[in-house]
Amino acid sequence: MRVLIAEDDGVSRLVLKKALEELGYTVHAAHDGEQAWQAFQHEGFPLVISDWMMPGIDGIELCRRIRSQVDRGYTYFILLTARDSREDRYHAIGSGADDYLSKPLDRAELASRLSVARRILDMEAQLREANEVLVRQKEALEFKTRALEQSQEMIQQANLRFRELFDNVPVACFTLDSEGVVYEWNRAATALYGWQEYEVLTTSVFDTIIPAEQADAMRRAIDSVMCGEHNITLQSEDMRRDGTLRHVLRSLFPLHGPDNRVVGCICAGVDITERVEYEQQLRALNRRLESLAFTDALTGLLNHRALQDHLIEVFNSLKNGESTFSLIMLDIDHFKRFNDTYGHQAGDEVLRLVAQVLQANAPPESVVARYGGEELVVLLPGFSLDSAIQVAEQLRQAIQQTETPYRQITASFGVAEFMPYMHSPSDVVEVADAALYEAKRAGRNCVRPLSAVSQSEAA
Ligand code: GH3
Ligand code: MG
Ligand code: MG
Repeated sequence: MRVLIAEDDGVSRLVLKKALEELGYTVHAAHDGEQAWQAFQHEGFPLVISDWMMPGIDGIELCRRIRSQVDRGYTYFILLTARDSREDRYHAIGSGADDYLSKPLDRAELASRLSVARRILDMEAQLREANEVLVRQKEALEFKTRALEQSQEMIQQANLRFRELFDNVPVACFTLDSEGVVYEWNRAATALYGWQEYEVLTTSVFDTIIPAEQADAMRRAIDSVMCGEHNITLQSEDMRRDGTLRHVLRSLFPLHGPDNRVVGCICAGVDITERVEYEQQLRALNRRLESLAFTDALTGLLNHRALQDHLIEVFNSLKNGESTFSLIMLDIDHFKRFNDTYGHQAGDEVLRLVAQVLQANAPPESVVARYGGEELVVLLPGFSLDSAIQVAEQLRQAIQQTETPYRQITASFGVAEFMPYMHSPSDVVEVADAALYEAKRAGRNCVRPLSAVSQSEAA
């Protein structure tokens, strides 16, 4: 350990220096207080032994100056004095000295005082070190506290931002627990459902916006999300506060708690009522258009095109085990003359009348169509030629018996059955047409199947 001694008396200084060196100290010896003060300022010493009475800066002043140097480590100051009164001792200690030694120097006393000094300096060093650790810990704690405060502020801001987004997004959003109890509710949800946030918070959606018919689907969706499903989309018909229903396209997402467990659902819904209604109108319109496309405007029967579709269908069904089918083609007799006599409008009226007779009298499974002009067709799936002839005969009689405001109407009938040699549905039509021609030739108002001869000719 380094020690600074201040002693103006050369002999005393030498004796002290020697004694200290023998005790293992590195000694810096100053000749007076001024020199000692210079050395101390320059190097700093943990231990100073100074004579009290010196010219210029005396021991008390040197001690006072050293004590004023607060930023250095502790300096143990021993005052060396021949003054030995009680007052002198008090004065020495009161001036900041740690100890004093009487002159003349007693080596044993010096050694014991120095061991006290060392103990105190060691303790001081330990305390200083412990204090430094504490300071460092305090700084680290302050740093952590600042970081915590900052992250709390960030969380607060994120919460605020989330709340703003949640409130202003133009999608009806609310959060639910597994029972359907609402915990958050945004403005768009109020706009859609008419319920204010304070009215629905902590109440179940099953008591407010989900009608009984939709409850099962909603419960299943909530359960799936609670069990780990990430996104469920479902269409629902939700109830508004005023009891009216709205079509809503809804997505459900999981809501995670602090430990990443799913604690509820976020529901986001868009009102698609207008779209659904528009689609319904469009579907109705399409159905109407479709029926118009397949209906004959004058008679209300299926038109030529629809007949072709049915024919293809019936023809194809033969492959699927259907046994056979037949087709009746009929043509009003002398209709040109009728038109000429009563006018075209009366002709239309009669045409409609005949159509009604056919519809009323044809078998339920048959297809009645206007083939073209005043030629009409009755398609009979599953009917053999004989049973088709019977149907034709009934229809012929029904037409003949129909009363009109003008005169009696009759029609001629050609009947054909599908034959194995036929390759397309139009073959059956051709044969029926040929049979109709025979009915006309036979004098009209009669039913003719194609004769065996004609059939083989057709083949
Ligand atoms: P037939 O007994 O040989 O059949 O004699 P027909 O005069 O009926 O001769 P045809 O079948 O060749 O004549 C068809 C007539 O049917 C011609 C046309 O004036 C009339 N007709 C065709 N379509 C319509 C229609 O939509 N309305 C009216 N009023 N007449 C029609
Ligand atoms: Mg005709
Ligand atoms: Mg005719």
